[in-house]
Amino acid sequence: MDFSLTPEQELFAKTVRSWVDKECPKNVARDIEMQEFEYPFELWDKMSAAGFHAIGLPEDLGGAGGDVLTQMILTRELARSLAGLTWIFGISSFCAKSINAFARQDVREELIPSLAAGDVRVAISVTEPSGGTDLMGAMRTRAVEVPGGWRISGQKIWSTAAHVSDYLFLMARTSDSPDKPAHGVTLFLVPNPSEGLETRQIPKLGMRAVGSCEVFLDDVFVPDRYVVGEPGMGFYRMLSTLNNERIMVAALCTGILDAVLEDAVEHLNE
Ligand SMILES: Cc1cc2nc3c(=O)[nH]c(=O)nc-3n(C[C@H](O)[C@H](O)[C@H](O)COP(=O)(O)OP(=O)(O)OC[C@H]3O[C@@H](n4cnc5c(N)ncnc54)[C@H](O)[C@@H]3O)c2cc1C
Repeated sequence: MDFSLTPEQELFAKTVRSWVDKECPKNVARDIEMQEFEYPFELWDKMSAAGFHAIGLPEDLGGAGGDVLTQMILTRELARSLAGLTWIFGISSFCAKSINAFARQDVREELIPSLAAGDVRVAISVTEPSGGTDLMGAMRTRAVEVPGGWRISGQKIWSTAAHVSDYLFLMARTSDSPDKPAHGVTLFLVPNPSEGLETRQIPKLGMRAVGSCEVFLDDVFVPDRYVVGEPGMGFYRMLSTLNNERIMVAALCTGILDAVLEDAVEHLNE
């Protein structure tokens, strides 16, 4: 199998690398990471201006097109300087993919152009305090159907950038007796702020500026239009976000290794 990049992809990687060296070189990234709990809005805005949030989204809705590989080239080049801070691009970008694929048409048309422009951020709120690996077994957050929408109560944890996101892409249990373990959960776009919704940042050792949050939901109302995909099938609909996101972890690690190697060679040559 030929893993080499096309000339167009090579050019894209080079363009991103120059952007990184100019806009957020390693010393800038380190300074940002020193500021725990201070989300780097300026960096987000620079990424918006560069058009990075539009990559992977459909051109007819304001996106720039491009496939997963394009997103991974971007991720690797960003991570060479930004490391974990690269998530500020990744989270919203991959939620946008599920929204584009499964949200109602009017919601797609409302959100995809804003996501592509960087005017809207979305956070993933899936993991719960009782466990993330066994996601379905641990899920206690519950949504109950009411006239015009759903009422959600429960708790999430490790929701990256939830405190600065306009929507939480949130999974909740909607059936107690699903026919399969992977059924019975539904995906929602929970507007933030909403009455009954609270986010709290968790102090941590790395990715400090991005912010990882606990999310508390007390009878939060979500209108019907913000159900993403069919009720009960949320796990499957989340996969287009999570599958992309897992590939991104690999691209991000590769970018970090690029930087380590670069610094090591520079040091040896001193
Ligand atoms: C910085 C950071 C950002 C994150 N961002 C998000 C986000 O934006 N949105 C979101 O929803 N979640 C997010 N997460 C949550 C992440 O997806 C979970 O941490 C992950 O799924 C693991 O879940 P856990 O932490 O509950 O660990 P656990 O599930 O409790 O696992 C703990 C350890 O036990 C091991 N283990 C678990 N089950 C088994 C088993 N059956 N057999 C053998 N070993 C096992 C695991 O491999 C792990 O080493 C984030 C986490 C971190 C740390």
